[in-house]
Amino acid sequence: MSYDEFYNRDLHYRINAAKARTGSKAKVIAGASGTWQYNYDPAKIEEYGLYGVVEGELGGIGPELDGAAGPFFDALAAGEFDTVNPFKKSQFKVEIKEFVRNDKTHHGRFIHYWNEPSVDEIPNIVNPSMHGMIEVMRGCGRGCKFCDVTLRPLRYYPVEKVQKEIEINMKYGGLKNAWVQSDDIFVYGLNPRTTKNMQPNREAIEELFNGIMATGIEHTNPTHGTLAGAIADERLIPNVSKIIRSSPDNHIGIQCGFETGSIRLIGKYADRKLSPYRPDEWHWVVKNGIKTLNENYWVPAFTLIMGLDNDETPEDSWETIQLIHEIETEQPDSKFTTTPLTFVPIGLLEKSDFYDIGNTMDAAKLGVMYKTWQHNFKYGIQKFMGKVGHDNPIKNWFFTQLASTLGGVPLSAMEKFARRKGAEHERVIEKIRANYW
Ligand code: SF4
Repeated sequence: MSYDEFYNRDLHYRINAAKARTGSKAKVIAGASGTWQYNYDPAKIEEYGLYGVVEGELGGIGPELDGAAGPFFDALAAGEFDTVNPFKKSQFKVEIKEFVRNDKTHHGRFIHYWNEPSVDEIPNIVNPSMHGMIEVMRGCGRGCKFCDVTLRPLRYYPVEKVQKEIEINMKYGGLKNAWVQSDDIFVYGLNPRTTKNMQPNREAIEELFNGIMATGIEHTNPTHGTLAGAIADERLIPNVSKIIRSSPDNHIGIQCGFETGSIRLIGKYADRKLSPYRPDEWHWVVKNGIKTLNENYWVPAFTLIMGLDNDETPEDSWETIQLIHEIETEQPDSKFTTTPLTFVPIGLLEKSDFYDIGNTMDAAKLGVMYKTWQHNFKYGIQKFMGKVGHDNPIKNWFFTQLASTLGGVPLSAMEKFARRKGAEHERVIEKIRANYW
């Protein structure tokens, strides 16, 4: 179970327990950007007792009853969402979706609201946020076809708004860090319609981080950023690193989309993710992005998409494996992690099918998963654990054992899976062990 699912389930169980205790008939709705997951696992709608799932940005303006959320809650209380009425003019469209999963049918009420609030309409937080996370922008503008963030208009929070939220976290939550929610931090402050080749607005980014540090927090890092954005201006990462005081004792984690090593797939589905570079320069961008980030004490946590639009061929998968291996051999001290995720049909690909890992994982895709885990094991867990215990032989033994358990378990599970699937899957595992280890 994922971290998010754990907290989400816990929250809904507590809400349901409170309702049962008090006899409340309150309607529970779920909103915000993760709601696509209810399409993937619709059984949860019933399990959590959800009345409805709101799709769109109402989540961000929900507390403002005098704004767009007012009519929403009025309609909810009046029972207007109980049935679908296509003849009633409303800014909220109700859809009852039917899903069939494992021979069972599930239903869910989805309420769509597509008006995006302007930055002025988005209220500041009034209580501390989880882990010190604060938003600095919404939208992205790079146009990756598998992403719905990019369909929303780009909006940037002014520095003063960001500072106010950090101050809330410091004052009421005692937090000393700011985790900067951004879909691509290197897009902050630029207008993709008028900026040639998505060239980062370095001044705006520097001003943002100067403002963040001026609040007195000790550590900050952006949640997401693109590799192309990180290297498009050679002064950007060094300058920002100085501002946020990155160092060997203060590494900056950032999640970046690696997506695939396939030049064909990246060109077809995410060419502007690379802007100002071309798809055929993708491998160079990845390698140089890692180098630049690492040199300035940033550590990228990469996500990869397995089965992108159900269009990933074995050749595409091998290109991914090859690229990870090349980075490991050309830059043996590089620091990065790789996490494979399965394709989810959102954004411009919302009409596509989910990638069904259980039934359609061919041998090469298993290879991608195996290689990513092997990378994390060898270059992440083992090295990290080795460093933690380097000054003490007992600690060293303990952390080495822990590292082999953490990394070894999933690797042996995949080897077992390959044995069950047959000779082709086994050959892929052997090939990776022989040539890409
Ligand atoms: S760069 Fe990231 S946030 Fe932007 S469109 Fe692509 S996947 Fe979405």
